[in-house]
Amino acid sequence: MPSERRGPILLLGGTAEARVLSQAIAVAGIPAITSLAGVTSKPEIYGGTVRRGGFGGVDGLAAFLRSNDIRAVIDATHPFAEQISTNAARAAGLTGLPIARLSRPPWKSGPGDFWRSTNDLAAAIAMLPSGAHGFIAAGASAADGISLREDIQLTLRAIEPPELSPGLAVTVILSRPPYPEMAERALFSKLKITHLICKNAGGDSGRGKLNAARALGLPVFMIPQPTLVSVDRELADIKSALHWIAALN
Ligand code: NAP
Repeated sequence: MPSERRGPILLLGGTAEARVLSQAIAVAGIPAITSLAGVTSKPEIYGGTVRRGGFGGVDGLAAFLRSNDIRAVIDATHPFAEQISTNAARAAGLTGLPIARLSRPPWKSGPGDFWRSTNDLAAAIAMLPSGAHGFIAAGASAADGISLREDIQLTLRAIEPPELSPGLAVTVILSRPPYPEMAERALFSKLKITHLICKNAGGDSGRGKLNAARALGLPVFMIPQPTLVSVDRELADIKSALHWIAALN
């Protein structure tokens, strides 16, 4: 859909792919605003203009699109960030703007993988055998889904400190990606991890833990990607995104 507006592209970010796309858009000389939720205290370096914090729901986002004369929206948020993706599609619909999503196809298991699909973190924790040490690689927000079990150990890795319910015995590791396979193997071995629990986020940056789990023969509890609201175009990669932007004029 061609856009009648001439202002910047709004890029909804918070992922490694969004960062790379923001830099590619800046190199191409296309005005863009990257929006971050503001949950990470020291975000990575993005190209172009960056804003932080929520918009205030669909209406707030629609008002932002109008007041900044936004030309088009690219949703490059995490595949599990359902709310902002839904809001973006609705706000683009309200304002008549084109919207595309930078897709991240889910990971697929291969030979040597022991994956089990699970609805959510609570279900995965319930399935851990007694004596297990589960490694939760699902970010600080995963803390909400952690339930108390005294017969297992849990380690949660996050960028920001999670808010844990009182009484939960969970070891927290604060660190930032990237997490290469060899470092993941060393970490899982050192901690004597028996199971990995993660979201099926797809993409390259999170693969190291899955390769490590395969190499160590660890079972993986995988939380499947949610089905997101549909948009005008699914973009497979940065090149497709740049083509889509170029075709807006
Ligand atoms: P969410 O549940 O979909 O969104 C919650 C609210 O946060 C939204 O309604 C919006 O607030 C605000 N928000 C989210 N992303 C925003 C953005 N890029 N710019 C401005 N406001 C944003 O999101 P989430 O799952 O908490 O994730 C928050 C951010 O972290 C996302 O940008 C996502 O890309 C990134 N992230 C998420 C995960 C994950 O596993 N969920 C993993 C890695 C990175 P208003 O309604 O006030 O506008």
